[in-house]
Amino acid sequence: MTDRKDELAGNLAKVEQRIADACAAAGRARDEVTLIVVTKTYPASDVRTLSELGVRHVAENRDQDAAPKAAACADLPLAWHFVGQLQTNKVRSVVGYADVVQSVDRSRLVTALSKEAVKAGREIGCLIQVALDAGVSGRGERGGVAPGGIEELADLVAGSPGLRLDGLMTVAPLTGEYAGRQRAAFERLMDLSTDLRRAHPAANMVSAGMSADLEDAVAAGATHVRVGTAVLGVRPRLG
Ligand SMILES: *Cc1c(COP(=O)(O)O)cnc(C)c1O
Repeated sequence: MTDRKDELAGNLAKVEQRIADACAAAGRARDEVTLIVVTKTYPASDVRTLSELGVRHVAENRDQDAAPKAAACADLPLAWHFVGQLQTNKVRSVVGYADVVQSVDRSRLVTALSKEAVKAGREIGCLIQVALDAGVSGRGERGGVAPGGIEELADLVAGSPGLRLDGLMTVAPLTGEYAGRQRAAFERLMDLSTDLRRAHPAANMVSAGMSADLEDAVAAGATHVRVGTAVLGVRPRLG
């Protein structure tokens, strides 16, 4: 193995152990939680190596970086998740490679995703991104819709051709009542997921938890954790 492959294998093993331990502590089966490796800022060669090491889900947050990387890795058996704030003028590109868009947070974006998905003949999974720190604007600093806006967006996604409503996503807030309270934030997301599933039983994905707080997310009931730094290393500041 190359040094980098060794390094990634070692990091993956540590993250796998953390997820397994968190599942055991929560009385959950290991296969209830899917690891998504966030490869933003890292090269396509790392994505390829991760695929060789058995990773099946990767995530990116900027279309400019993700599009060429996904093209370079098109031969690999990977599901691509888009997790960044998404401008409508990037939707056509993102729909070309993303299997799931986790950052759906406004109706204009849903309309654009649906239109491009239909044109491309693709079905795109959608998670509503929930901002637990949303102010009076009803929107979060880093994207997301306030809890009160979930239902309307979810109904819109569910009724849009080319889109599939998969569930909810959040990023632990840095401000507001949940700042520094990841476990409480993720439990709130689970409650919102329970509400959502009354109307949309198949929308059972709950994406929460990153390198620093994946244990809290697994304890709360997350089905997907998004881990970057703990697998790939500390990123350069951008991204
Ligand atoms: C970068 C990023 C992650 C991964 O964060 P790490 O702390 O590097 O694990 C997860 N989710 C989103 C939305 C991100 O942008």
